[in-house]
Amino acid sequence: MKNPGKKPAKRFYRKRVDLFRLIDKIKLWPSRRGILHGIKTIHKMGDQAQITTHCNKTFLANDSRNSRAARWLRNKWFKDICPICRIPDWKLEKYSSTQFKRHYGSALLSEDELDKKNGD
Ligand SMILES: [Zn+2]
Repeated sequence: MKNPGKKPAKRFYRKRVDLFRLIDKIKLWPSRRGILHGIKTIHKMGDQAQITTHCNKTFLANDSRNSRAARWLRNKWFKDICPICRIPDWKLEKYSSTQFKRHYGSALLSEDELDKKNGD
C-alpha cells in the first residue's frame, strides 16, 4: 500500500468529460435506485457500452454526458453502496475527493488526442 494513512490527492475532471472515459477511470456506476456499484467490465460498442458490475448485473449504457448516470456520478448522488460489489474503501475515498469543474481539470483524453490538440 502506497502512502498509508494519507488522504488521496484531490483530482479534478471536466464536467463535460465523456461518460465512458469517466467510468473507465473510476469504475463506479450509480443505479437508478441510487445504489453505487463497482464496475467489473466495460465493452464498448460504438456509442453504447455493455457494463457488468461486480454483483454481476449487465446492462447497456449510452455514452452521453447528459445521461442520468453521468449527472449522478458527477454530483455523487447515491443513497447506498452495493454490499455485493464490495467496492474498496480507497476507491470510494478517491471518488469522494474527485471534483468536477466546468473550466478546469482533465477531460481524460488519450495520449493521441492530446497530441492532436497540441498540434493545432
Ligand atoms: Zn453491485
